[in-house]
Amino acid sequence: MSLKQVQYLIYALFAACILMVVLLAFTKFIVFLWLTLAFAVAGVAVDLRLWRCPHCGGHLGRDVPKYCPSCGRRLDDLQ
Ligand SMILES: [Zn+2]
Repeated sequence: MSLKQVQYLIYALFAACILMVVLLAFTKFIVFLWLTLAFAVAGVAVDLRLWRCPHCGGHLGRDVPKYCPSCGRRLDDLQ
């Protein structure tokens, strides 16, 4: 999986999380609370596990960097 795909996956999981919060607010169905938590946990897990430099394996942080904050190499995949 490329870094670009990981980036979109993280965005999709947190977008789904927000959607579940909206559905929870409108419907008051408790199942949307559990789905919110599930998408949030999945988003954090994907971020921690896959949002990493392909060269050194260091975590890329919260931004979308051009260069790895750990080893300084260029992240061509994200350009
Ligand atoms: Zn690196």
